[in-house]
Amino acid sequence: MKKMTRQAVFRKLAALYERMASAYAETSAAIGLSCEGCEDNCCTSFFQHHTYVEWLYLWQGLNRLPEEKRNEYVSRAQDYVRNAQAMLDNGVRPNIMCPLNDDGLCGVYEHRLMICRMHGVVNTLRQPNGRQLSFPGCFKCQELTSGMEDVPVLDRTDLYKELVKLEMGLLGSKIKSMPKVDLTLAQMIVMGPPELNR
Ligand code: SF4
Ligand code: SF4
Repeated sequence: MKKMTRQAVFRKLAALYERMASAYAETSAAIGLSCEGCEDNCCTSFFQHHTYVEWLYLWQGLNRLPEEKRNEYVSRAQDYVRNAQAMLDNGVRPNIMCPLNDDGLCGVYEHRLMICRMHGVVNTLRQPNGRQLSFPGCFKCQELTSGMEDVPVLDRTDLYKELVKLEMGLLGSKIKSMPKVDLTLAQMIVMGPPELNR
């Protein structure tokens, strides 16, 4: 794919996030899942993100915040990275609140990443090698779907393919030489925006 301007990539990513929101709304409605009044908060889930394009867009959101707020998030992210590493060193999967979560609300809602957007509902992803990955959704979704005969599933393969296209559009031919991204959101914050002009 031809290299695109950053502006064009961001515009298309925002539109893709809208499509994800619609797909999510449709599936969650079919399941009967709502986050309203949820007694848990899935923003403690520990997972990695894998694209420069989402990393950069996250930072666009952070850079729009007042400096004081951004610094607070960076400081929380530093604590997160330190504490998560200590837990991993002890063989425990981290279960720490995301540094961007303020009393249950996401501090970068419009800029949150794909996994944050898909986590709640049952979803699948077909990898280029044909392998099918399945995710059961959050605990509440699992409770709601446990007795269902025909569980509504969000297939995010096409959405993911679109994201990969935007990654290629952002990086152009550099995509072959750039290191693979495999970072938690907190690591993406601590490291600052990705350096793409190498
Ligand atoms: S996605 Fe599930 S666990 Fe997360 S807030 Fe919504 S209902 Fe709760
Ligand atoms: S970025 Fe937002 S939605 Fe994602 S885990 Fe953090 S607070 Fe939750």
